[in-house]
Amino acid sequence: MLVKPKTLEAREFARPTIGPDDGLLRIEACGICGSDYEQYEGAQPPHEDYTPFPVIPGHEPLGVIEEIGANARQRWGVREGDRVAVRSGYGCGRCEACSRWEPRLCRKRGGTYGYTDVNKPPQLWGGYAELMYLSPYTVLKKMDPKIPAGVAVMFNPLAAGLSWAASVPGTGPGDRVVVLGAGQRGLCSVIAARAAGAKQVVITGLSRDAQKLALARELGADATVNAETDDVVARVREITGGGAEVVVDTTPYAPQSLNHAIAIAVRKGRVVVAGLKGMRPARELPVDDVIYKELTIRGVLSMPVDDTFRAIDIIESGRYPFAKMHTYSLPLEQAEDAIHALAGQIPGVNPVHLAIVPGAPRVALGQVSRES
Ligand SMILES: [Zn+2]
Ligand SMILES: [Zn+2]
Repeated sequence: MLVKPKTLEAREFARPTIGPDDGLLRIEACGICGSDYEQYEGAQPPHEDYTPFPVIPGHEPLGVIEEIGANARQRWGVREGDRVAVRSGYGCGRCEACSRWEPRLCRKRGGTYGYTDVNKPPQLWGGYAELMYLSPYTVLKKMDPKIPAGVAVMFNPLAAGLSWAASVPGTGPGDRVVVLGAGQRGLCSVIAARAAGAKQVVITGLSRDAQKLALARELGADATVNAETDDVVARVREITGGGAEVVVDTTPYAPQSLNHAIAIAVRKGRVVVAGLKGMRPARELPVDDVIYKELTIRGVLSMPVDDTFRAIDIIESGRYPFAKMHTYSLPLEQAEDAIHALAGQIPGVNPVHLAIVPGAPRVALGQVSRES
């Protein structure tokens, strides 16, 4: 439980009583992304999903149905023992879609796993746990239990890539796609752009991302750019022959990347902004370029249900080497290590994807550096 910024503590709660419409999930793995770090730091601006502390974090859950009510069993088409991927947001329970038991069409959103006040019964609203409550308005999909949990749980970042690098910008065969940032979502964006038939895919990263950039090539990137040693804009323009129709910014805490994205985008280009900047503003944004080039700049926070379900299909297809992207499975007791590792605060540790896996063996990760 995150009791206040930078303070995760182990707590025990009573096992919820499950009724006819809800369920209980035994967590197999919970993915971690940049927003977990921001939540941990207390660096998130108040928005509709914002919850004050205390909260059980974890919004990317994968697990096995531990207990389920009779109605829920029928509606979700799953039963005890089935592995399911769970969407972060759950329905409001009051709108027309929810009253028809179609929470995937709910536009109001009842809440988000990992961001729901722990004082709201029955308390187990987050994936950093052994058990998580499943609201009647949960959106979930069965997943092949043979896939290792750390890989299966990548349905979440892959869904983001499919949304941000393909469906949102409408990527097609004529498009050059530039992905800024080589984290898990950047790499998933490469897969998505390739799958959408992009003409050329270029990805940027830092010097310490050399391995991630090599992996990006394996996943379908045509070229990689080191954002620390190269002039990103000049180098990308050179490689692409003038710029890109689609630019996806996944870089965290780097507001100037939006300036780069605008400079890289060609006329009528689509810029998708996804990497949160810890509330830091971009400076000297070239507004006139946005107008002259008639750019579309689109912020994205989550992704539609269709992309989540498609991501599950793609992982189950076995067509891509997702196992190479999964770096660590860490036990619950190392949740804090997981967050620091993902944030690049542990010297020599630069994981692509990691997940919290209850009961996993401890991993020696070294000391956290507090400088960064
Ligand atoms: Zn996430
Ligand atoms: Zn609703």
